[in-house]
Amino acid sequence: MKLLTAFLVGLACLFPAAARAATPTKAPLEVIVLGSGGPRPFGRASSSYIVKVDGLPRILVDAGPGAFLRIGELNLDVSTVDTVLLTHLHIDHSGDLAAFFNARALTSDNSITYRIFGPDGAGLFPKTSRFVDLLVGDSGAFAYQKTFGAPETFVVKDLAINLDSKQTRILDDKGLTIDEIATHHGDCPSVAYRINYKGVSVVFSGDMDASALPNLVRLAKNADLLIFHCAVLDPPGSPKQLYELHTPPRKIGEAAKQSGVKSLLLSHTAPDVESREPKVRSSIRTNYAGPVAFATDKLRVKVGGS
Ligand SMILES: [Zn+2]
Repeated sequence: MKLLTAFLVGLACLFPAAARAATPTKAPLEVIVLGSGGPRPFGRASSSYIVKVDGLPRILVDAGPGAFLRIGELNLDVSTVDTVLLTHLHIDHSGDLAAFFNARALTSDNSITYRIFGPDGAGLFPKTSRFVDLLVGDSGAFAYQKTFGAPETFVVKDLAINLDSKQTRILDDKGLTIDEIATHHGDCPSVAYRINYKGVSVVFSGDMDASALPNLVRLAKNADLLIFHCAVLDPPGSPKQLYELHTPPRKIGEAAKQSGVKSLLLSHTAPDVESREPKVRSSIRTNYAGPVAFATDKLRVKVGGS
């Protein structure tokens, strides 16, 4: 709790002018962590976040198992969510997507149009548009979903997955912009996202190995908050094959420094990382001097405002 308090104080310090204002100002962006774990079951929900824009829940980032439960526990009104960003299609990031559609359709009588973004397909992984079709399309496993609750339209864009693809702006909507870039997560196509609104920005790394760090550093340049998935210890602390999927703490710290991000939130915490928090923190400190915190389910982080 002490570390979390320090982190939140750190965040407030990023915006000293706002902090001095007599009346608190609304945060342009707020991240609510639905799931801070994955893929092993040990008490945390798997990877999922809601981003509030001007106080309204608008964006779902990943939908790992447990997201549905956390939405209910937080009594979150998801009736304004219109954008879904999928970093990749592993089960621990997408297993609750159909459950989310179901929950959202039951919260509103008005028709819903989702803008859904996710990686193109390769190998065993379908492209995101096919994935959504396999779930809720006319021949999908849950085709009945379209007959259940509010009418839904799914507008899905598949994103480039080669590491040399250029950074792309995928959304520009009344001051809310979202950029993406390809990352690398073993054999699973993956992308990272940056959400910008009213001068503040949040970056979601998703799961990625260190080979994609140059792209991530570019995407995260001077962002206010970088949410980086921290699923392994520094070598040789974790099984060797995991380094082909995830970035170790020392390299996360290097990337945070190189990109000049103002704060760092570690998520997708594995049990061995959770039990060695001080060690992970000090490894990151070798390079990065800004505020660092570990995510927990239901954590809320305001970005900007006071
Ligand atoms: Zn994962």
